[in-house]
Amino acid sequence: MKWIIYNLYFPLVLLAGKVLRLPADAAELHLIGLNNRIQKKEQRQREKILILTPSCLQNKDCENNIVEDIAHCQGCGKCRIKDLLQLSAKHKTRLAVATGGRLARQIVQKAKADAVIAVACEKELVSGILDSYPVGVTAVVNSRPFGPCINTDVDIAQVEKALIGLLGKE
Ligand code: SF4
Repeated sequence: MKWIIYNLYFPLVLLAGKVLRLPADAAELHLIGLNNRIQKKEQRQREKILILTPSCLQNKDCENNIVEDIAHCQGCGKCRIKDLLQLSAKHKTRLAVATGGRLARQIVQKAKADAVIAVACEKELVSGILDSYPVGVTAVVNSRPFGPCINTDVDIAQVEKALIGLLGKE
């Protein structure tokens, strides 16, 4: 059933979104909602979960190379990386930063993760869900108060909710 959803239903909905000229991101939001409901039913061990966030979440003026190693964050609090580090420490899960879809795929493969909680824009999330299949991706849409790809933001409570959903009663 999952194979049909990700390999047939997803492409069909994306195509319908284009052909019918649905409002921006409407098809992606529908697919993200469906995907997250599926992922919620799966429970994972915390050491197999990876939180993956885009580099645009980092404050644009910060010079610490958190893509190389997120531990380079100095925790100044000017962006959400500090909060995500605290969250991953609290729940003992891994956290990484990616500069794009290709690096994200490499990180997921290298981490041998069973489940990913990904933060990104709607389009990147749907691509990531499809690229990572059969690894499950729970998607959290970022907010873009300064436009796309710069000083983006995320609701940490939503990331924690996704994490708790995956951990279940572990
Ligand atoms: S919280 Fe970390 S990554 Fe964000 S601006 Fe401060 S030092 Fe840089």
